[in-house]
Amino acid sequence: MTGKTERKTRRVAIAGFHIESVSFLDAVAALEDFELVALRGAGIVDTLRGTNTVMGGFIDVLEEGGVDILPIVHAALGAVGPASDEAVQHYAEEIAQAVLADGDHIDGVLLFLHGACWAPSYPDPERYILAKARQALGAGKPLMVAFDYHGNIDDRTLENVDAGFAYRKSPHTDTGETGRRSARCMVRTLAGEISPVWAIAKPGVLVPSIFSATALKPLADIIEQAAVLERSRPEILDMTVMAGFSYADAHNTGFSVLCVADSARDRAQAAADEISAALWNAREALYRPLPVYSVDDAIDRVMQGLASRKAGGKPYVLLEHADRMNDSTYVLAALLERGIHNAAVPFIWDPEAAARALEAGAGSSVELSLGGHSSARAGPRLHVHAKVLWAGHKEFRMSGNYMKGMPVNLGTAALLEVGGLSISVVTYPAFGVSGDPFYIFGQRPEDFDIIVLRSKTHFRDFYEPISQEILIVDTPDHGPADLTLLPYARLDTSTVYPFNKGGDVPGH
Ligand SMILES: [Zn+2]
Repeated sequence: MTGKTERKTRRVAIAGFHIESVSFLDAVAALEDFELVALRGAGIVDTLRGTNTVMGGFIDVLEEGGVDILPIVHAALGAVGPASDEAVQHYAEEIAQAVLADGDHIDGVLLFLHGACWAPSYPDPERYILAKARQALGAGKPLMVAFDYHGNIDDRTLENVDAGFAYRKSPHTDTGETGRRSARCMVRTLAGEISPVWAIAKPGVLVPSIFSATALKPLADIIEQAAVLERSRPEILDMTVMAGFSYADAHNTGFSVLCVADSARDRAQAAADEISAALWNAREALYRPLPVYSVDDAIDRVMQGLASRKAGGKPYVLLEHADRMNDSTYVLAALLERGIHNAAVPFIWDPEAAARALEAGAGSSVELSLGGHSSARAGPRLHVHAKVLWAGHKEFRMSGNYMKGMPVNLGTAALLEVGGLSISVVTYPAFGVSGDPFYIFGQRPEDFDIIVLRSKTHFRDFYEPISQEILIVDTPDHGPADLTLLPYARLDTSTVYPFNKGGDVPGH
């Protein structure tokens, strides 16, 4: 069979730059920090093919569709402080240069960006990166982007793209699927099947990250409403409710509703507006769907629970959620002070303590300062007498549904026993979101009465089924549940709940 014209193999560039910036933190993620985890060229495809990541999803669909992949760079950090200007500039430039160098060979660009990056000289770094990519790609070829569900975006962020997508779940168990949704849209667009257009609506609502978990009601109901709308209107290709990230102070912080439609911008806008209105109407319940405890009240409740049950029950999770740097010590200090045993405090970010433990060696006892080093708000630096159970270099691939297969490098790490508590310290920040913090040391989470975690929502996928109860503990750290405590300067708080309490949907 021959067609009128020989069908040329399509070629799509893929790249990723990802950081969730707590803009209130002083510690800036420098270019070197990104470079520690950066992948390039074939390394991206070899490392991330088959993983539950956005890149993994891009690669799946493009390879299945017989599309040539130009893998450029993938530099992804988690939730830390601002990115340095240099880092934003570097990756924007690297992506643009690679696209330019490929010139006419390239048919489209697919990017993975967080959406809540913040850098001192870039009010909207993702918009900047997308603008550079568009400049390099030229007009008339599709540029598409996949965001994190916690991205803060607005219509200007998207001004250079043909379609935008984001995770629909938190815990982000659909990262690979988000990559696939985006890449399918790219492949169909290149085949001439669809002409995507997008619309966005901002309801003017903020929630603390803990309450962005998508199984919580009423959020779950509104997300379902968006899914029904997508299914029932043929012109709607994709709808995403994005919670935004309240700890990044930017002009566009907060929820967004993103809708991609086939050649029907007005309908995309109407659909986004409809869901946006539902979010605004539910603002109070979205903001506080579960109780928040003080450290003492939470521990009292757990101790009562433990006292009244038979041996062998499930562990309680104390969620020290306001910690943004994995080194808060408020809960740990209280556990030590009360002489509580059989509790685990995994993945405290403390390179110094890890190095000292390694120096002392397994089996030895050592005096250590622990945690509380990232800022004055991270709680007291604790001076403890620790037994080193294990110390060395640790790397692993993530188990569990969230980011399954993603490689994690903890650097020098150690497992310590302090006053009956099991504590691990790591050199590179990592979150306890699955059983990994236990498995890598030959432990089981089910064997502890109390587990202290710092993840905001991702831990729920693994820990909800195996825990007795999850107690959200508020501490005076950088990520409080009460958002009115935050010193927003760039966000116009008069336009967003919980500052703006009432009335009609703002900005429409
Ligand atoms: Zn996220």
